Amino acid sequence: MHAHEHPRQISSLVRPEVADLPRYDPGADPDSARTAHGLSHIAKLSNNENPFGFSAAVGDALRPLTNGLGTYPDPSSRHLRTKLAERLGVSIGRITIGNGSENILELLCQAFIGAGDRVVTQSPCFGLHEIFPLMMGGRVDKVPLSQGFSFDSAAWQQALAQPTKMVLISNPSNPVGTVIESEEFLTLVDAAPKNALLVIDEAYFEYAEGDTNFPDALSRLAHQPRPWMVLRTFSKAYGLASLRIGYGIASHDWLVEILDRVRTPYNVNGWAQCAALAALSDQDHVKKGVALIAHERIRLSQLVRNIGLAVAPSHTNFLFIDTGRNAVGIANDLLRQGVIVKPWREHGFESFIRMSLGTPDDNDFFFQALCLVLNHHPA
Ligand SMILES: *Cc1c(COP(=O)(O)O)cnc(C)c1O
Repeated sequence: MHAHEHPRQISSLVRPEVADLPRYDPGADPDSARTAHGLSHIAKLSNNENPFGFSAAVGDALRPLTNGLGTYPDPSSRHLRTKLAERLGVSIGRITIGNGSENILELLCQAFIGAGDRVVTQSPCFGLHEIFPLMMGGRVDKVPLSQGFSFDSAAWQQALAQPTKMVLISNPSNPVGTVIESEEFLTLVDAAPKNALLVIDEAYFEYAEGDTNFPDALSRLAHQPRPWMVLRTFSKAYGLASLRIGYGIASHDWLVEILDRVRTPYNVNGWAQCAALAALSDQDHVKKGVALIAHERIRLSQLVRNIGLAVAPSHTNFLFIDTGRNAVGIANDLLRQGVIVKPWREHGFESFIRMSLGTPDDNDFFFQALCLVLNHHPA
């Protein structure tokens, strides 16, 4: 018996929900790609990371921390929660911290989703918005975007007329990059059953917050009597993806206390807590990165449209591009050129790739490789 085979004994022990789960696709590994294709430069444009990295303040804050490696971190992330509570104008009891915001998504599902519970999300969606509810035995209904990649208010109203345990949606959308606009956001909130938990995943908040029509979810939800949570992360605009830290703002302290019951006490390591605090103190760094990305987003969208491909209007640090061909094939061809992107596999979107905006050089590198792969010669 080989270690990679599935011994029947394990298969019969595992919960059926787990055996059937789709796999999360983390994208190709840069080192393997380098070796496999004999490449010197790899543009990793697959995980929506910040090409400009983290603030110098983070490095300064972490250096002295090596002395404290032997002690457990603060299980309540008190300093960071205090700082976030001040910035956001909410009480500290309403803030929860996760080992990445994906950890909070997982905790929400562990605490609230049981066998047969219905979760409504959007299609196409972030993989974990489907995987975590399914893992708990929930049912996931996906509401498609309408033509032109916009939020389909009528379809959502219809979907939310049925009993629903949780509404789970990213705004801006990953993988599409579009936003639910202010008016639509109100429609969504009104349509959601009063006893449903509303989870708004704002992983790309910092890229969209200045845009007209991007709803200020925290103030829109402030007077809702229902339970809700808004999720944000230090992985994207703050450039700290490696450290794994994100946060949630809850409607009520009680929601945070519920998550504490399923949370492992030391889910957030000390380096991550310290780095997040330092990163918050350097908003200039975030603003500069967001501005550079906005510039690249416009420039690259135009280049890609010029060769005849459709690109969704993005409010994030990535582009969702219709290649018109099988995306897995295109992604493999790009990989051979040293560019890693994510091919989309969800039904109806099999010709799309999601490309994370990188440095201007890497974006050019991507565009040249794309033209080559599509056999298109840029003017
Ligand atoms: C990247 C991403 C996350 C995960 O962020 P982490 O804080 O790194 O776990 C969550 N939701 C969406 C929609 C994302 O794109």
